[in-house]
Amino acid sequence: MVITIFSFGNIGHDTIKDSTAKRILKLLYTERQLTKQEIAQQLGLSIPTVISNVNELIEEGLLEEAGVAGSTGGRKPVIIRCKPKARYSFGVDINPTEGRVILTDLDNRILADERFSIAEVCKDSYIVRQVFKITQDMICKNNLSLEKVLGVGFSLPGTVDEEKMLLLNAPNLGITNVSFKNFSEILSMPVYIENEANAAAFAESSLEAVKNINNLVYISITKGIGTGIVIKGSLYKGTFKRAGEFGHMTIVANGKPCNCGREGCWEVYASERGLLDLYQELNGEIVPGISAIFEKIRRKEASALEVFDKYLDYLAIGIQNIILFLDPDYLILGGNITTYKDLYFEDLLNRVFKPDSLFKTNETKISFSKLEEDASILGASLLPLLSFFNDERIKVR
Ligand SMILES: [Zn+2]
Repeated sequence: MVITIFSFGNIGHDTIKDSTAKRILKLLYTERQLTKQEIAQQLGLSIPTVISNVNELIEEGLLEEAGVAGSTGGRKPVIIRCKPKARYSFGVDINPTEGRVILTDLDNRILADERFSIAEVCKDSYIVRQVFKITQDMICKNNLSLEKVLGVGFSLPGTVDEEKMLLLNAPNLGITNVSFKNFSEILSMPVYIENEANAAAFAESSLEAVKNINNLVYISITKGIGTGIVIKGSLYKGTFKRAGEFGHMTIVANGKPCNCGREGCWEVYASERGLLDLYQELNGEIVPGISAIFEKIRRKEASALEVFDKYLDYLAIGIQNIILFLDPDYLILGGNITTYKDLYFEDLLNRVFKPDSLFKTNETKISFSKLEEDASILGASLLPLLSFFNDERIKVR
């Protein structure tokens, strides 16, 4: 498994002062386990330096010995690894109807998972109260000491200025300019924020085995559409943090109105909501969710097939535009709609890569999120780790 961690430029939450110790710890987090000889080799350090630093890190409870490696002769070298339970992190995902909080360890495993509903009139004070209650409860139930908790990362459905700690605009939540500055004080731990599609792109490129990845676009198809852009291994956000707002690119001139105030946006046609609206327009019937439509498609009901044919065209047009804008190596689709991929993937590829002067079959690899509904929240829970490892890029095997 390759894990890559990118810099987000957050404020440091630095618990290990010594840079050599931190380099060793970072290497072991990324490589999982190594012998002292391998550590010395990879970091260009002397064996005595590695031994003294490793001993200190073991004493601090960050590293542990994990058996012995094979040897070609002589004493078998001891394997050193990061202690998964040495540090913890919280991830929080906020969407228009629901909040979710997870607790993860240094193996990026989800140890606790809880959701809370978000009513239409919810304010940020309600959200932070819920997150406080749940995180405190998880700390209690898991018997965690506070100094082992690196912080809380928030994945938010809108434009985010992570340096100013501002949620600038979240059309689907109906809020603008929400400050997260005092969340840290209320939650009694460092707080980090990121746009949900960026967080998901980050998690997909960090935790999934997309090898030699250079350029990636993550497309989150939910009630709206968000995209996260990774260029040359780093998240690209643009000067005013609105890069990746492809959900609001116009695909129909003077089209249907969007929550953003514009008309004809891609997400009005190609999001879950877009699919439901399209079904209602063509059949005069309101269905409760996309699962009902896919059930009809599975049963090959003509009414649903006709709707989905139009929907796939809208989806394909947006994907083609993104390929023309950015020409990425990978396009990863996420969101509930990917649960039904078997019903449309082939068809979607044929529409995106309709042979013409600009598109050839499968030049850009299109795949589906492996982390599925956990993508953005796992990306959020990685944010405190970036700070812990000094915001440097890390590759994990
Ligand atoms: Zn829009």
